[in-house]
Amino acid sequence: MEEFDAVVIGAGNGGLIAALRLAKANKKVLLVERHILPGGFATSFIRGRFEFEASLHELCDFGHEDVRGNLYTLFKELDVLNKIQFVDVPEAFRVISLSTGETYSMPFGIENFVKKMEEYVPGSSKSVRIFFDLGREIQMAMAYLNESKGHPDSKVLMDKYPNFMRVAAYPVDKVLDAIKMPKKAQEILDTYWTYLGTSTDRLGFIHYCIMVYLYITNKAQIPLKRSHEISTVLETEIRNNGGTIYYGEEVKEIKVTNNHVSGVILSSGKEIKTNYVISNASPHSVFGKMIEKKDIPEKALKLANAREISGRGFSMFLGLNKTKEELGLSDYSYFIYETLNSKKQFESMKTLDNFSQVTVCLNNAIPDASPKGTTILYFTSLYFSDCFSKALTKENYFDLKDRLAEGFIDAFEKATKIKIKPYIEEIEVGTPLTYAHYTDSVDGSIYGYLTADLDNMMPRLMRMYDENYLPGLKFCGGHAMRSSGYNSSYLSGDLAAKFTLMDMKEGK
Ligand SMILES: Cc1cc2nc3c(=O)[nH]c(=O)nc-3n(C[C@H](O)[C@H](O)[C@H](O)COP(=O)(O)OP(=O)(O)OC[C@H]3O[C@@H](n4cnc5c(N)ncnc54)[C@H](O)[C@@H]3O)c2cc1C
Repeated sequence: MEEFDAVVIGAGNGGLIAALRLAKANKKVLLVERHILPGGFATSFIRGRFEFEASLHELCDFGHEDVRGNLYTLFKELDVLNKIQFVDVPEAFRVISLSTGETYSMPFGIENFVKKMEEYVPGSSKSVRIFFDLGREIQMAMAYLNESKGHPDSKVLMDKYPNFMRVAAYPVDKVLDAIKMPKKAQEILDTYWTYLGTSTDRLGFIHYCIMVYLYITNKAQIPLKRSHEISTVLETEIRNNGGTIYYGEEVKEIKVTNNHVSGVILSSGKEIKTNYVISNASPHSVFGKMIEKKDIPEKALKLANAREISGRGFSMFLGLNKTKEELGLSDYSYFIYETLNSKKQFESMKTLDNFSQVTVCLNNAIPDASPKGTTILYFTSLYFSDCFSKALTKENYFDLKDRLAEGFIDAFEKATKIKIKPYIEEIEVGTPLTYAHYTDSVDGSIYGYLTADLDNMMPRLMRMYDENYLPGLKFCGGHAMRSSGYNSSYLSGDLAAKFTLMDMKEGK
């Protein structure tokens, strides 16, 4: 039987970073991935003469040499930064309401942002400045929380970060009301809510504020050669540092002996001995399929069952045979909503009649992202119920895909008044079924568990170390302590690996 210091299940963002951190600490690590490629959602694919980004719109918390975000620092520490080329996204966002036709275009940079908001909503600047001041304080408090490894000193928090403590327990809407931000400014500021997949009446203020603060201050970045570039660099580094990777192998079972992880069994039947497992697969998969019932800690099962599945993904990728200038596509990100009220919008995204979308024109950040004379446009939407699987039969998959694709294209054309349909050279559509098929995500969710109410990022961070119900087992990725998204899943992989290294040292 082969023996490893640790086994990482899944080579998504979280799993890749966890495996690399362990390999760099000279641990004998095995990374097992059921697909034949690294990255999970972080990948690309080719149709005709186009290479499409499969998921990433923009990285948060990255930055530059002068303003280093956490992700920048992590990549530098892991020695991968100079192996990947990053470019800036040109502007923050354009948001359009399908029902009212309103459209707002927001820039990066706090001063620019405040000024633009004041133009759209006179009298809003004071409250928008307070929002960004809170963002700065939250950033510092979060750095302290990370250092404290889940055991912060409440006196330090009260003394140094009083406003952080004041807002920590509240959702976005409550705090924006308290700082007297005009409703219209709130709606515009709330635009990024779909990136965290929870409407602002339930989404933790801290989580949202820090994300917006980081985007607006550090700008957003993307890798020049799609997210696949990051994934392949990370996997190469794992191997360069002595790690082993099995592709096309699935972890079928996690063995438990005396209430501690003792090994894994792979789909090929191979048995691996290890005392430590980091799972990039969800707790639903781990407790639902991989561990014998008698060995599942009751608390872990209760927690998994109490959680709500987040947005199920729908995406569409278009290769257009005209340039962005010929088409009139001047923006990078188009947030197109039925309504700018996130609560109402969230509700409408529980049905298949929802055609709201976040659509990216890649060539506005990377002009030569596609062959000369062409443009790449990709659409992402979410379903906050299992409406897609309910509508699905064995016979109607392609018809359903076509109907929905048409609806999303029509909504884009209506919102932007730009014709794209006659110029489609390539089209590909991803549904919740696609995501469940490629990554084994629950119900085709692309955002892990809903980051809402008591399952917000803050409570997750506060209990992240104690959530060690089964000794030897940790989670990373979109379902873990930092919630979903690129930077969160990468950072959670690092945290899970560091906690595992601590446990190894202490013999836990
Ligand atoms: C269309 C789309 C657009 C998005 N846009 C953005 C964006 O702009 N910004 C952003 O920050 N985030 C975005 N996201 C979300 C982001 O992609 C995810 O949050 C992140 O990639 C999740 O990473 P993860 O670590 O959870 O791993 P996942 O990508 O979930 O990967 C998990 C891996 O584990 C493997 N696995 C599962 N079970 C097993 C097993 N039993 N054995 C072996 N392997 C197993 C899977 O095959 C998979 O490779 C988007 C996602 C999608 C789909």
